[in-house]
Amino acid sequence: MGDTIYFDNNATTRVDPRVFEEMAPYFCDLYGNPSSMHTFGGQVGAKVEEARERTAQVLGCDASEIVFTSCGSEADNTAIRAALEAQPEKRHIITTKVEHPAVLNLAKALVKKGYHLTLLSVDGDGMIDLGELRDSIREDTALVSIMWANNETGTIFPIEEIAQIVRLRGVLFHTDAVQAVGKVPIDLKKVPIDFLALSGHKLHAPKGVGALYVRKGVPYRPLIIGGHQERGRRAGTEAVPNIIALGKACQLAFDAIDEENKTVRAMRDRLEAGLLGAVSKTILNGHSTQRLPNTVNLSFKFVEGEAILLLMNELNVCASSGSACTSGSLEPSHVLRAMGVPFTYAHGSIRFSLSRFNTMDEVDFMVEKLPPIIERLRALSPYTEE
Ligand code: PLP
Repeated sequence: MGDTIYFDNNATTRVDPRVFEEMAPYFCDLYGNPSSMHTFGGQVGAKVEEARERTAQVLGCDASEIVFTSCGSEADNTAIRAALEAQPEKRHIITTKVEHPAVLNLAKALVKKGYHLTLLSVDGDGMIDLGELRDSIREDTALVSIMWANNETGTIFPIEEIAQIVRLRGVLFHTDAVQAVGKVPIDLKKVPIDFLALSGHKLHAPKGVGALYVRKGVPYRPLIIGGHQERGRRAGTEAVPNIIALGKACQLAFDAIDEENKTVRAMRDRLEAGLLGAVSKTILNGHSTQRLPNTVNLSFKFVEGEAILLLMNELNVCASSGSACTSGSLEPSHVLRAMGVPFTYAHGSIRFSLSRFNTMDEVDFMVEKLPPIIERLRALSPYTEE
């Protein structure tokens, strides 16, 4: 698949060869258990601690506040369950309609256990209303969980402001920063966030590793109980190579964040402007400026996203659509529905998400090839303008 053009980096990313090189010795050579007393294991333990330092650096927190997990979903679940278990008398949770299922589906499952849930709505740009957030916080609110950046549209929430509002009311605040880490500068010394989730495979580390930031002094309960790993905060022998990879990926992201955002944004902007200029009846889903630099989600009226993806696939181009095939019918995603994207547009939405490994040539290829594909599909479409 040498000539694959990969515009699906919000789904997962290529492992950076520098990351792979860093983790490789920890499979067959340096395979000791980091908890062992012997020197062989001890050197592995030291490398895990280096990874913790590197992960903390990208967040601007202390290494002792990082708990390694198996993925972003585990980090989200741990944070939410920890906050609830620590305050059994509080039964109310606030989150948004546009969260990833790792938060949204857990919140809905908790309703079945007797919790009360407020789902904040979003406007047409995918933004929440801070007034609605303020009004939703109650005496019995245990936790507010709001993502930093949306995976489908790239819309970035004003997390600093949100965190301040929640802190002023004395409520715990969790943010799912899986799509933000490495793309949005983060300094947890300056923002009153209690829990933050991140995931390795969204920033050029392998799948199967994530981390949870837990602010010092915040009530905490482990999700996985067993051995004393992670200072008793997450049992299970550490996924050493993955953790080392995550640390390296965080270091690379931290060192190059400004430069990389600039180059990735330039490619994204060219793709966005090229497609909006060449294809009529096309809209942008997501905020025009408060948006991840790598993400553009477009809706092409009167075409099915899946059909576009299939024809793009024939050209070896990977992207995602904003609809999910459920029971044979194509339902627009919960995010686009919450934003009120009209039906005839929502079905034809495509998310392009770029990374440091894309090139301007790939962007130009897409801007040349996609407009005729849309034209072809529109000619076949049963939907037309009144
Ligand atoms: N949160 C967001 C915003 C995501 O985009 C994802 C993955 O798509 C997750 C959580 C889940 O992360 P993981 O795949 O590591 O469990």
